[in-house]
Amino acid sequence: MISRPPPRIFVLANQKGGVGKTTTAINLGTALAAVGEDVLVIDLDPQGNASTGLGVDRKSREVSTYDVLIGESSLADAIVATAVPRLSIAPSTLDLLGVELEIANDKDRAFRLKRAFAELAASEQHEGERRYSYILIDCPPSLNLLTINALASSDAVVVPLQCEFFALEGLSQLLSTVDQVKQTLNQKLSIHGVVLTMYDPRNNLAAQVAADVRRFMGEKVYDTMIPRNVRVSEAPSHGKPVLLYDLKCSGSQAYLKLASEVIQREKRLRAA
Ligand code: ADP
Ligand code: MG
Repeated sequence: MISRPPPRIFVLANQKGGVGKTTTAINLGTALAAVGEDVLVIDLDPQGNASTGLGVDRKSREVSTYDVLIGESSLADAIVATAVPRLSIAPSTLDLLGVELEIANDKDRAFRLKRAFAELAASEQHEGERRYSYILIDCPPSLNLLTINALASSDAVVVPLQCEFFALEGLSQLLSTVDQVKQTLNQKLSIHGVVLTMYDPRNNLAAQVAADVRRFMGEKVYDTMIPRNVRVSEAPSHGKPVLLYDLKCSGSQAYLKLASEVIQREKRLRAA
């Protein structure tokens, strides 16, 4: 019979672009898989950077998250394997750009992804096996219907945050959106944690902002900071997560630490 608890569904969200959402989806996903978790990444950004970064080229995206959201395909049919053992992805295509218009008038428009997860869970129940322990959703850099679908279907939010001017303002905005979603669409939604990305300790402003974010968010901020590391930014052009591209580099090591912190936090939450 079903042998493990339902997957934990995390959404990587921040309405700002270029803060490390996609990089974290790819590399936290890879790091979790590397320590034995079964991971599914959902690419919900029309840009498809998570799909490209995990080596899924455009030609092999026959079924995408677009087809899932408009109800043409099941999530199971969209999922493809990656070069990373235990890591799969539901890829996206530019078609996703049109989804908002296509489903704007449907009553269930905010719950399309949630329904897809429920169907996946039902088919797994039928097969007697749960395939994933973690699902990570990569979002576009805006609070549009795609991000709303992600927030409405997730257990918790992981917020990648770059330590720059106005980072706290952006964070407050995101927290109030999460609150609204909690009150209207998804009661169980919580903030799992804030991960400081592209951190450069020699940059005084970054150090200052990091301290401010820790004061503001307390324990919600993961201890692990992801350093700015050129290997991290090179890896996607090779269609590889940085852990496959250069396991020893500081970026890979940081994502492994982050994964163990996420798992520890999960254990504490489950025990509580
Ligand atoms: P988002 O998905 O939030 O828009 P990305 O993950 O695409 O952000 O990151 C934005 C850019 O920064 C990308 O070019 C990515 O390769 C680069 N980048 C992300 N994290 C790091 C890092 N730790 N070190 C160096 N470059 C990084
Ligand atoms: Mg992105």
